[in-house]
Amino acid sequence: IKGWGEPYFSVNEVGHVMVAPQGDRGGSLDLYDLVEALQERDIALPLLIRFSDILKDRIERLNASFAKAIARYNYAGTYRGVFPIKCNQQRHLVEDLVRFGAPYQFGLEAGSKPELLIAIATLEPKDSLLICNGYKDHAYIETAILAQRLGHNTIIVLEQVDEVDRVIEVSRRLGLEPRVGIRAKLNAKGIGRWGTSAGDRAKFGLTISEILEAVEKLTAAHLLESLKLLHFHIGSQISSISVIKDALREAGQIYVSLARLGAPMGYLDVGGGLGVDYDGSKSTFHASKNYNMQNYANDVVAAVKDACDEADIAVPTLVSESGRAIASHQSVLIFDILGSSDVTVAPPSPPSPDEPLVIRNLYETFQNIQANHLQEVYNDAIQFKDESLILFSFGKLSLTERAKAERLFWACCHKILTLLETEADIPDELAALEDHLASIYYANLSVFQSAPDTWAIKQLFPIMPIHRLQEQPKQKVTLADLTCDSDGKIDQFINAKNVKRVLELHQLQPNCPYYLGMFLNGAYQEIMGNLHNLFGDTNTVHIRLMPNGYQIEQVVRGDTMQEVLGYVQYDADDLLENLRRQSEQALRHQRITLEESKRLLKNYEQSLRSYTYLAP
Ligand code: PLP
Repeated sequence: IKGWGEPYFSVNEVGHVMVAPQGDRGGSLDLYDLVEALQERDIALPLLIRFSDILKDRIERLNASFAKAIARYNYAGTYRGVFPIKCNQQRHLVEDLVRFGAPYQFGLEAGSKPELLIAIATLEPKDSLLICNGYKDHAYIETAILAQRLGHNTIIVLEQVDEVDRVIEVSRRLGLEPRVGIRAKLNAKGIGRWGTSAGDRAKFGLTISEILEAVEKLTAAHLLESLKLLHFHIGSQISSISVIKDALREAGQIYVSLARLGAPMGYLDVGGGLGVDYDGSKSTFHASKNYNMQNYANDVVAAVKDACDEADIAVPTLVSESGRAIASHQSVLIFDILGSSDVTVAPPSPPSPDEPLVIRNLYETFQNIQANHLQEVYNDAIQFKDESLILFSFGKLSLTERAKAERLFWACCHKILTLLETEADIPDELAALEDHLASIYYANLSVFQSAPDTWAIKQLFPIMPIHRLQEQPKQKVTLADLTCDSDGKIDQFINAKNVKRVLELHQLQPNCPYYLGMFLNGAYQEIMGNLHNLFGDTNTVHIRLMPNGYQIEQVVRGDTMQEVLGYVQYDADDLLENLRRQSEQALRHQRITLEESKRLLKNYEQSLRSYTYLAP
């Protein structure tokens, strides 16, 4: 928790997770107590808690890092960050972000037409930048140019070759000069999952010859004066600082070349990519990064200054589009565990001499397990288990005998695993035993709705209990979600610089809730989440730290069943009417009593108004 959680998350002396939403500059609150208090207010789990102060702190840190770097390198320009709305478009979050960012003229980046609509209406038309990325048709371009009339500092970034002609045509028609940027396809390669965001085959951006073509077209249209910005984005979650440095060197040269070609320029937008240390290892592993925010800001400032100084060109205003680094930490998903399924391993009793040979062999294998030949006995156990399955298929083993063979096999595995704990060198095959014997904990959530990247791209998020942390967790566990989909599980967990397949959790206690938190998941997950099996949006609360505790600023109720059914075009009244008709018919044929039918209709009606997740 120190690695990924500092300065926001820690553990207190009673074993609860503590949240310090203002980092090391403010007070903290007990996350377990908060979850209990929210449930007392009928705000059910799963629950997304957004700590608005963390969002504020992230914006302040990013701006402070650039301010420090600018001072350190005597950089003659400024920094104007923008938040890429795609990272989390939720209204309350974007409004908070604009409010907290106002002192730093922190702007917004839109990547589509609907995001442009959010940005224009939410941002104060002042100095903050409004960067217009993504595919653009005439309506997009026209809206962006007209928004300049309101005082918005819009910059239309040309990402495709044909957008150049479109921008020229719209600006001619409106008689207004646009502010334009160009996104370069850098040769510098990205790294990791989003590495293909850069390079010749990247989806967005102009190659060097396309950039020159665009400059020629703008010049011919007397619009070169409107070219103000160079943008690049080499992918999200860049884990290695050297990759960022390479990109900056290349982009710096393109920037000075454009200035030399006569474009006024003024802005260099380094895109997103500033990573988040999900596993706390501070390494180049994909769930981590080997640099901090200050290193990043220093490198951006130093590289751009070097390129401009060498070319004797005025330094630009620096822009970054950091999404993940701003939005990840502020939200924590809390969910409860509904039950478990364990591989039960009772000590086996000796078989009688007339039991099938395969059972007697398995028992003998069990007895022979010793530390110095674990792989060998494991191979034997597997062979006898396979044999028992074949015998069963040919009718040579009864159901009871097959069950006995199964239990003996698991008893062998369990004994091997216990002895393995003292071994220094564990063969791969045996290492997998731990996964086979892990319990499954059933989690009250849908990974497709709340953490889609864990499924789609095997993204790792820190997951841990938020209480009982003074007890050693001894149960090795994987998590299964509520969906009827075998992909609906989490079986990859952070483990300094690599991945582990099981998570150590506490044994469940009867009638005691067990709460887990998934941390750092405030970026991309909410909007990428889908309605698989019709599990809807979770409840969300916004919490602000107060001098004497906290304040619940917003409660955004999760979807009801009626709402998710509406998304797939079912009308609640029609459904109810169908059910009423069915129960009238059943009443006529005396298949149901009036009492039962009333009760069924009442349940149905109540369900329509209820949360899609399970009640404890
Ligand atoms: N800018 C652009 C153009 C992007 O495509 C993205 C996301 O990949 C971002 C900014 C945000 O990146 P990140 O969340 O890594 O900061």
